[in-house]
Amino acid sequence: MSFARARPLQTKNYLFTVTCLLPYNEAMEYVLCAVSAGSGSKDFFTYSVPESLRSQIKVGHIVSLSFRGKKSAGIVIAPAQKPDFKTIEITGILEGPLPEHLVNIIPWMRDYYASPVSEIVKTILPTGVLKKRREVATQKIRGQIRKRPELTINQAKIVKDILNKTDKPHLVFGVTGSGKTEVYLDVLEKVIKDGKQAIILVPEVALTPQTVLRFEERFTGQVALYHSYLKETERAQVWKSVFEGKKNIVIGSRSALYLPFKSLGLIVIDEEHETSFKQDNNPKYLTSEVAEKFREITGTHLVMGSATPSLESFFYAKSGKYYLHKIEERYVQEKMPETVIVDMRNEFKYGNKSIFSERLQGEIKEVLDNKRQVVLFMNRRGFSTFVSCRDCGYVVMCPKCDIPLVYHETRSQTGLYCHHCDYKTSVPTICPECKSHAIKYFGKGTQKIESEIRHFFPKARVKRMDADSVKKDHKNIYEEFKNKNFDILIGTQMIAKGWDLPDVDLVGIVSADNMLNLPDFRASEHAFSLITQVSGRTGRGTKRGKVILQTYNPDNPILAMAARHDYEAFYESELPKRKELFYPPYSRIIHLLYSNKDLKKCEEESSALSKEIVQEIIKGNKNIVLVGPSPAFLPKINNLYRFQIILKVGPNENLESIAKKVVKYTGIKLKVDINPVGIV
Ligand code: ADP
Ligand code: ZN
Ligand code: ZN
Repeated sequence: MSFARARPLQTKNYLFTVTCLLPYNEAMEYVLCAVSAGSGSKDFFTYSVPESLRSQIKVGHIVSLSFRGKKSAGIVIAPAQKPDFKTIEITGILEGPLPEHLVNIIPWMRDYYASPVSEIVKTILPTGVLKKRREVATQKIRGQIRKRPELTINQAKIVKDILNKTDKPHLVFGVTGSGKTEVYLDVLEKVIKDGKQAIILVPEVALTPQTVLRFEERFTGQVALYHSYLKETERAQVWKSVFEGKKNIVIGSRSALYLPFKSLGLIVIDEEHETSFKQDNNPKYLTSEVAEKFREITGTHLVMGSATPSLESFFYAKSGKYYLHKIEERYVQEKMPETVIVDMRNEFKYGNKSIFSERLQGEIKEVLDNKRQVVLFMNRRGFSTFVSCRDCGYVVMCPKCDIPLVYHETRSQTGLYCHHCDYKTSVPTICPECKSHAIKYFGKGTQKIESEIRHFFPKARVKRMDADSVKKDHKNIYEEFKNKNFDILIGTQMIAKGWDLPDVDLVGIVSADNMLNLPDFRASEHAFSLITQVSGRTGRGTKRGKVILQTYNPDNPILAMAARHDYEAFYESELPKRKELFYPPYSRIIHLLYSNKDLKKCEEESSALSKEIVQEIIKGNKNIVLVGPSPAFLPKINNLYRFQIILKVGPNENLESIAKKVVKYTGIKLKVDINPVGIV
């Protein structure tokens, strides 16, 4: 069986240069294709173009071809020189051509994110686009039309600034309700007037119905939604209408970034700090990085907004890599809710073994008596098993990394392990701090909260919403809760998003500790922004909003800063820690995950790999630091043991070239993640 194989075209890193040098309309005899069926391969493949298609084919065309005997689709990346090996012909032109920025992002993503080409092609070409389509009715969004508000002086200045400058991304920093969306809307209006197109990215389309409504009201008939809850045919239809220029505005989740806009004028990333902007699978891209690449290529305006920006973004904004725009106050002079920190050590001391403090129980009762509503929040990743003392709140930490150690039974030896270095120790039976015996593992889920609530408040109408229930039910739960069909909503991060709930008087954060004690250098950052967001679910339109924050670590300064909604204080306190430990924004991280069925082999081979990296890539370079191998956060999945190696790479090093060298070692056993968020 013969199949085409690509040769490197030029010495240049990116094909961007290549495609610019060669005019799009030159008749092409040979083309370099990114192939959807290429599975693990990092190569592009050379195909010949049949005589009949030569005058039509362009860079960016989606073509049908056969790959190793199988029918597949490909994207034409560039013209190719006549190769010295036998090639096969492409079989037809299916769609396109795609706009230039979508073509140029392919080689960049391959190199930067160490991703197989096939997975990038699948990201850019949603399934369904190449199938025969049936027309589907587009969803109609309805609501009352509101007046277009007059912007404040500050808002107007921000809009002007954004419109004037495209040489860097803009970060709009302001609390929820400060009027960021009004800024996006005005920028968008100008962009659309100029005949350009826009992508508005939100973390969860389904959870931000009011935001969608505001865009739809202002730009009636021009807005399409694009997210993972859509059916394949619906997505294909949005793709097509964007390609044909029938829709100029798309509100969507991160995948909307790859819609085929020919004249992109604006990308907005709202709630820029959200982890859903990072894709977990190949290509493991960060939305803001790809958007920044698109800005470089197309000159589009790029705007990010947040009340709690990621530490990196705020650092970039302060150091001049981004433009920083602050909105200091809520537009409607509403107070932020009052936050009460409850010391759970006392509860335990006085015999309350429930997960609810007496204070929280009392507040819930009062709210229910007043026929108002309660939200109870538990972090999704609350299954973390750190070891903590119920008397004094002491948490067993790694002496080298200053993050909690994690309890594992799955390794050859039971004990406490550090996820960022090779430190291990046994589980203490008495607290080293206060000598109490009440030292134990933590981790409780939303089910536990539900059963305790039903025990204490048998008459209350309760609903639980977490990752399992959200897929099918999210919209109904929101509507039902808003219509006061039930009283208490229990949930994870899903309920922290932009829901507007005017009848909620109380938010209970059941445990702040399992957010803070995750073995992740971003744990504090995520805890801060989650607490801020969850708190924002109460006190909307009333003066009664209250937040009860339960913790065994009431002295943790992060909680006090979150209670004050003081992001900048948090930023100033967190940054020096990042610097000291050489974490982002002072470094960028390459995360290597090594797995093997055999524990001993996994340990040995990952050690060997780490040695090889030290010798072959680092070579004494002080700007690259290797830590590990150490067990991954989830140390065994599907009978595979997992070890991780972390490379911290200084800002002046070329991450792309280092990533490229690391890629040499990738395969089924080794997974690479550039700039990971969260823990694996
Ligand atoms: P954010 O996006 O920062 O959460 P919004 O843009 O949603 O803030 O603004 C919060 C509320 O204040 C909205 O109801 C919005 O319509 C209103 N608002 C914001 N700016 C103005 C303005 N300049 N004039 C009138 N209303 C405004
Ligand atoms: Zn103790
Ligand atoms: Zn450690």
